[in-house]
Amino acid sequence: MVPDNFVTADVYPFAARNTVKQVEEGFDLAPKFDADGLIPCITTEAGSGEVLMLGYMNVEALWRTIATSEAHYWSRSRQCLWRKGETSGLVQQVVDMRIDDDQDAIWLRVHVSGSGASCHVGYRSCFYRSVELGGQAGKTARLTFMEPAKTFDPKHVYGDAPNPTKL
Ligand SMILES: [Zn+2]
Repeated sequence: MVPDNFVTADVYPFAARNTVKQVEEGFDLAPKFDADGLIPCITTEAGSGEVLMLGYMNVEALWRTIATSEAHYWSRSRQCLWRKGETSGLVQQVVDMRIDDDQDAIWLRVHVSGSGASCHVGYRSCFYRSVELGGQAGKTARLTFMEPAKTFDPKHVYGDAPNPTKL
């Protein structure tokens, strides 16, 4: 467990980014956070390889994920640290964490507890719709649902909690 008072920036064990050689071919984690202090994270199901979601981590979310082997993200809509599964029980147990060549993107391979779903809409993957290719100008591209049914009922799981999807 990471203690709750674990918030001081200078205790996070990330290396400074000094040279391209170090970042691309070195052995130290030296993540690059964007102007908002975030790094994008693609999360896939460790067994099937299915893409579950795209999330963002701030420094603390990344470090808590490393320290606990449970996926933590920064919720941009709610502006708070988000331990995945805190409300739903659908915790993402991290099997493997990868960082890309220039260390500005994370890939988590996870096992999801409970029903195995990762999407707040109730689907297994956030990417539950496929976009029809070969479209025409002036004609709205159509979407096809790729999962036959929701894995869980979001109303039942989240109750009256505000929907994180914003227009
Ligand atoms: Zn989703």
